[in-house]
Amino acid sequence: MARIDLVDLAHSYGNGDDPESYALKPVTMTWRQGGAYALLGPSGCGKTTLLNLISGIVTPSRGKILFDGVDISRASTRERNIAQVFQFPVIYDTMTVGENLAFPLKNRGVPKSEIDKRVAEIARLLDLTPDLNRKATRLTADAKQKISLGRGLVRSDVAAVLFDEPLTVIDPELKWQLRSKLKALHRELDLTMIYVTHDQTEALTFADTVVVMHDGRVVQSGTPAELFDKPAHTFVGYFIGSPGMNILSAEVKGREARIDGHTLTLARSYDALPAGAKIEIGVRPEFVDVAAPAPGLLAANIERVDDLGRIRFARVRVGDVKFAARLPAGFSPSGSAIGLKFDPAYVHVYADSRLVEGA
Ligand code: ATP
Repeated sequence: MARIDLVDLAHSYGNGDDPESYALKPVTMTWRQGGAYALLGPSGCGKTTLLNLISGIVTPSRGKILFDGVDISRASTRERNIAQVFQFPVIYDTMTVGENLAFPLKNRGVPKSEIDKRVAEIARLLDLTPDLNRKATRLTADAKQKISLGRGLVRSDVAAVLFDEPLTVIDPELKWQLRSKLKALHRELDLTMIYVTHDQTEALTFADTVVVMHDGRVVQSGTPAELFDKPAHTFVGYFIGSPGMNILSAEVKGREARIDGHTLTLARSYDALPAGAKIEIGVRPEFVDVAAPAPGLLAANIERVDDLGRIRFARVRVGDVKFAARLPAGFSPSGSAIGLKFDPAYVHVYADSRLVEGA
């Protein structure tokens, strides 16, 4: 397994020289050896492009990729020693499950005793042992995709294992199991893994570090808790969480934020915000407390309650501003009027969508 460095890496499919039009805008970052990474973002944000640059399917228009310090930007996929799992099963129907799992090892000339050991281990980890001698053609699509996962994980000497939306074809119930299984497999197998998905639950369950992409750009790389507690970009706040972060236009001066005539006190002071920038504050619904109206609370009205079973989110309105707030368990407002309290530690300030650190 390798440490992976992306150095000023960018790619254009031929849309001109302006980096703003690139499918992948210049990125420099390091992925540690043995880490579990997710590339997360909506359709078209550049996840597959970045994955294909790492695997060698696409050659970068600019910058470099290093594996353990060695420039492999122009090396073939085979030379890069990468294993890949795609959205749809890539297996041989005429072979047995065991033969399919053994194939990547045979292909690299691994001795038979080692192949047998490794295949047995992977089959055990993926609950495929009872199927080892069955022909793959008789299996369901779910089971076939499990074999694809096994084929991706069977070699212990790869630089990295890349997964491109591998659970798309999996039935929802099994998806839950496989998600946590992949996490456990990462711990057990000690491989560098990179997992592409547009599904935040998959990304947050699997990865130690989630790399969030938006419009061809890496906007934040961090642990699930960092992305949740301190989004570096308004897009991360909005995209992660359900519902996402409230992003409200505000005037911010020192420790005060004014929203539609109402004043909030901030935890830090913001004295040097860039002139002319669009200033917004972001606060997650989980950090807006809803209570009965009372002096000192921000007066608001509930417009709607989304009941998600154990969790309820209120859609509230303060003047002309609408946002979401979490309702405490057992709280039932007597009318639409409520009071709101923001936890200042979780109110963030953004200038042109980027987080500003207060002083
Ligand atoms: P999805 O989840 O839909 O696959 P993605 O986040 O993986 O999306 P990419 O497939 O990397 O995004 O696409 C990024 C941008 O590059 C998109 O605008 C896409 O249309 C464009 N693109 C991708 N592949 C090519 C290609 N072979 N030729 C030209 N443009 C491409």
